[in-house]
Amino acid sequence: MLRLYNTLGREIQDFKPLRAGEAGLYTCGPTVYNYAHIGNLRTYLFEDILRRTLEYHGLRVSHVMNITDVGHLTDDAYQGEDKILKSAREKGKTVWEIAAYYTEAFFHDLERLNILPPTRTCRATEHIGEMIALIRRIEANGYTYAAGGNLYFDISKLKDYGKLALLNLDDLKAGARIEIDANKRNPHDFVLWFTRSKFEHQAMLWDSPWGLGYPGGHLECSAMSMKYLGERFDIHCGGVDHISVHHTNEIAQSEAATGKAWVTYWLHGEFLVMAKEKMAKSSGNFLTLASLEESGYSPLDYRYFCLNAHYRSQLQFSLEGLESARRARGNLVERVRRIKAAASAEGTAVPEAHPSVPLRAQSAQSAQSAHLDSFRQNLANDLNTPQGLADLWGLLKDEAIGERAKLAAVLEMDRILGLDLAGIEAEEQELSGEIRELIAAREQARRDKDFIRADEIRDQLKSKGISLEDTAGGVRWRIQQ
Ligand code: AMP
Ligand code: ZN
Repeated sequence: MLRLYNTLGREIQDFKPLRAGEAGLYTCGPTVYNYAHIGNLRTYLFEDILRRTLEYHGLRVSHVMNITDVGHLTDDAYQGEDKILKSAREKGKTVWEIAAYYTEAFFHDLERLNILPPTRTCRATEHIGEMIALIRRIEANGYTYAAGGNLYFDISKLKDYGKLALLNLDDLKAGARIEIDANKRNPHDFVLWFTRSKFEHQAMLWDSPWGLGYPGGHLECSAMSMKYLGERFDIHCGGVDHISVHHTNEIAQSEAATGKAWVTYWLHGEFLVMAKEKMAKSSGNFLTLASLEESGYSPLDYRYFCLNAHYRSQLQFSLEGLESARRARGNLVERVRRIKAAASAEGTAVPEAHPSVPLRAQSAQSAQSAHLDSFRQNLANDLNTPQGLADLWGLLKDEAIGERAKLAAVLEMDRILGLDLAGIEAEEQELSGEIRELIAAREQARRDKDFIRADEIRDQLKSKGISLEDTAGGVRWRIQQ
């Protein structure tokens, strides 16, 4: 049974999908006005582990992610200058060119990190009609008011606004942090449709029942997730920064529109932090995947680095930490190479990982299945990847397990870990070179009638797990199970 920590309720719960055998997953995507920073990528990596774990459990996952290519505002309080417009102005491009360029860069990052692409990606600018239709429903249900040219969501009309973030609405400190918008009845009210913004030259404008303008920053996720996953679906994810405003407001809009509960499980990834500061894309000073690569790290080193921490713990970035991940992954790759060479030397095809095939029942007796069982339990227990990596290493170091069985288990674990272990080439040259030398020495000893020496070499090979058979066609060697 898969168990996940649900921010809504603040507890680990059994995952029970709305439709048997399926899972609807929505993950908030990037605002494409700059490269993703490695903090953003940590969140996409956590979501990838979730997606792969769901699939490992035999669920057919519909994974939807938005691309925010409509301008939103430069600070977290949804005030300020349009981010995409600002970037376009600084780089001398159109907003559309900026959005297209950074969307492509984002997918390139996902690919290099071996993150599975969403089953559907949707652009905010292509769903303005759906957003307008959603606002009309919210309006018809009596949750809106117009003020100062904008249409606002009135949170006082919703009985459980703030249930996700456990907001105490009497506590106005949170509200006080937001620059007071004189049009708002409550500091937590938020804009559904802007016709008037605080800055000029808004580049993206659409006609609407409330005038020429653009949608509020939370609408696209509600409108697009419901379009593609239904009015109720299973899981919604993002970084922890989204809990108190963005996801709280997404829930308010969606439940006000439909009149029913919206998403069952809310999962949030903790932040990657730099020297105790959070990494903010808007600050302009941040690390990208490309900058790690320029320093000689593979994107998969960063993936390994992130897997070493639980997604609900803050992770402090350091080059020393990344360096030790690089070394550990290098050792892992070497071991897998050797195991593949040894397994194929047995004359057996290397088993493939089949992501879509549910697990076979394994014999509880074998050492191999003890490691696999532990791995499955750890991943099923709220995606415990650090323990999962420990299980992988325990398996690799377990000398009681034959090479083929080991390789099959490694590849099975990698269906979730996504370290591309299936893509590693077997290092046959090195191993067969070593074996050839020993075999040649033994044959020479036999020709010299030095049977004691020949037997010594046979024992030496045996201690390396290689058995010899003298046949009419010459000496045949195989890896022992
Ligand atoms: P954004 O492009 O700013 O909307 O962020 C994309 C995703 O990255 C969201 O799910 C954010 O919650 C998440 N995020 C932003 N900063 C960080 C960080 N420093 N560490 C981890 N996740 C982050
Ligand atoms: Zn969102």
